[in-house]
Amino acid sequence: INSKLPHVGTTIFSVMSALANENKAINLSQGFPDFAASEYLLERLNYHATAGRNQYAPMNGVPELREAIADLIGDCYGRKVDAETEITLASGATEALFVAVQAIIRPGDDVILLDPAYDSYEPAITLAGGSCTRLSLVPPRYQPDWQQIEDSIKPNTRLIMVNSPHNPTATAFTDSDWRELERIADKHNLLVISDEVYEHIVFERERNSAHRYPGLAERTFVVSSFGKTFHVTGWKLGYCVAPPALSEEFRKVHQFVTFTSFTPAQYAVADMLTEKRDEVHALGAFYQRKRDCFIHAMRGSRFELLPSAGTYFVLADYSALSDLNDVDYCHQLTREHGVAAIPLSVFYETPPESRIVRFCFAKREQTLIDAAARLKTL
Ligand code: PMP
Ligand code: GLN
Repeated sequence: INSKLPHVGTTIFSVMSALANENKAINLSQGFPDFAASEYLLERLNYHATAGRNQYAPMNGVPELREAIADLIGDCYGRKVDAETEITLASGATEALFVAVQAIIRPGDDVILLDPAYDSYEPAITLAGGSCTRLSLVPPRYQPDWQQIEDSIKPNTRLIMVNSPHNPTATAFTDSDWRELERIADKHNLLVISDEVYEHIVFERERNSAHRYPGLAERTFVVSSFGKTFHVTGWKLGYCVAPPALSEEFRKVHQFVTFTSFTPAQYAVADMLTEKRDEVHALGAFYQRKRDCFIHAMRGSRFELLPSAGTYFVLADYSALSDLNDVDYCHQLTREHGVAAIPLSVFYETPPESRIVRFCFAKREQTLIDAAARLKTL
């Protein structure tokens, strides 16, 4: 078949989770919690399903949830968002990202991506007929090089996609990064997709977002996901916040991709946002304890853990342990040592010469301690 995505295989997350299951390894690869979501949230899901809220939700999402999201954004970032015209629910951030790209990218348009980039971005652009300019975040701290980014803008550059807090490097934009992005996008009239699915998971710093920068907010699709925030990645409930004209285009596509998302979950999450808002604000501290538990448990190991400022991931340099490339090393680690991780190189167009893997610490403490015990024998 004449593939539309000739260079795309099965996503690394499916590959590594399958390998972990096959080998009964501790799965620190694909990012998902191994602990239960809040009882209140589960009770509300059951409540709304039992109360008969089981038919199609409105295409844009139930009003209760859109209002609750608008309120949360005001609370966290001081931006006033109109729930009616600027917020659209989607089946996960993955759908929202895909839809935003389809809504704005035409054949001939170019999109700037910053490597390592989440693996769903480029295929969405390719399917829309666009091309990508992939620049690298600068190691060892994986900062954006804004001068290089600005220099790479071409007449057909239409969009830049950013992700903060960043998967897989666990870094987060500084205020000056956001300001540079705002300046450059405005000066060159670029649209922005800001993937903020880990927005509430930051350590030793305040949450930040494109929402906080008015010049950015007016040209940005901000994408987030309740999968991360409420420990329910399988619910696939995300959303896009964008100014009315952009939201209108987004909705034209969304209505023919999924039309709408699982109704009872929308009501349950709305209740969670109104009644248990504190849990959102406490999420950073919650994951910081897990991060620190893993770092502590890994003391004495020959892996060098890199700083993790946000997300539920931490990178680890294994140069002291093996000369294998990171893909082979992740396979060996899973098969022979019973811990699954994600190789970093798969998120690059041109991977650097590093030997780095990503561990997910969205796990029970015992899981993290058991995994570290295995890793420390290496
Ligand atoms: N963007 C990033 C950076 C992610 O890490 C993920 C999921 N882990 C997504 C998007 C997709 O989120 P969802 O599961 O809500 O589709
Ligand atoms: N985003 C998750 C991760 O980075 C995986 C999501 C998926 O499996 N599609 O691990």
